[in-house]
Amino acid sequence: MSAPEISVIVPVYNEEAGLPALFDRLYPALDALQSPYEIVFINDGSRDRSAALLREQFQRRPDVTRAILLAANAGQHMAIMAGFEHCRGNIVVTLDADLQNPPEEIGKLVAKVREGHDCVGSVRQNRQDTAFRRHASKAMNGLREKITRIKMTDQGCMLRAYSRDIIDAINSCQEVSTFIPALAYSFAQHPTEVEVAHEERHAGESKYSLYTLIRLNFDLMTSFSLMPLQFFSMLGIIISIFSAIFVGFLAVRRIVMGPEAEGLFTLFGIAFFLIGLTLFGVGLLGEYVGRIYQQVRHRPRYRIGAILERSE
Ligand code: UDP
Ligand code: MG
Repeated sequence: MSAPEISVIVPVYNEEAGLPALFDRLYPALDALQSPYEIVFINDGSRDRSAALLREQFQRRPDVTRAILLAANAGQHMAIMAGFEHCRGNIVVTLDADLQNPPEEIGKLVAKVREGHDCVGSVRQNRQDTAFRRHASKAMNGLREKITRIKMTDQGCMLRAYSRDIIDAINSCQEVSTFIPALAYSFAQHPTEVEVAHEERHAGESKYSLYTLIRLNFDLMTSFSLMPLQFFSMLGIIISIFSAIFVGFLAVRRIVMGPEAEGLFTLFGIAFFLIGLTLFGVGLLGEYVGRIYQQVRHRPRYRIGAILERSE
């Protein structure tokens, strides 16, 4: 296997229902590009037959197929990282396994990299997801736009292409919680975006629950911005100043007018408000401290159980 020009990275987590359809469309789409390519599947610790299907597919097309079988579920972004570390192409494309982004669009992204763009983002036309997902994404896109210096129209679309430089830069990071499109963008010198079609999931269900989506957005916001932390310290300073003035005012009233019991509940109200605020501030601090903790432990980010590839 000589180094291919294009590497397509596909994370796979419990996708047994959709993999045959993916194979049927992905290989012809890449054959049609007429450039040497490899497809690197990362089985992200699936508990269904996905690994077995990948083994079979490797037997069928060992010339262009490589499969990395992670020993346990590491999450979509870490699975892609494993793919990045093992791919060899000069143009690296990430693609979801569920056919929501048509593999036929890969050529469009590859062309942009050939034109000299190092980071090709994508924007889903007529996104076929639940209304809740669409609205939540829009809100998160907007928030990210405000608090980071990252400009992306559609951060959630994972059909993206990167040049080798970007992949090398990403590989040099040992980040544990991260969001690949944002990380790639932060290294990009000539980013661009293309519109891609979007379809409903062909088989199986979304692998993201509300909980994992919220976790992912914390990864995105806290990995690329200190603004949430700074916002609370600024708010804390302002509130402290006002509280101090208020306490001074109450002290003067106490001296001039004597004790007043009626104001007790107002004080309770204020105290509870401040306790709530403090707790949230502490929680947010914990988000960062938790990440520092993960980072300094230097544990392996994933463990590989086996790699299926033809020897050189
Ligand atoms: N995925 C993964 N590990 C996970 C969750 C998801 O490798 O822990 C893969 C999944 O198999 C799919 C891609 O990431 O190829 C995107 O997942 P999904 O389609 O469920 O996300 P959605 O489209 O709902 O955002
Ligand atoms: Mg999907």
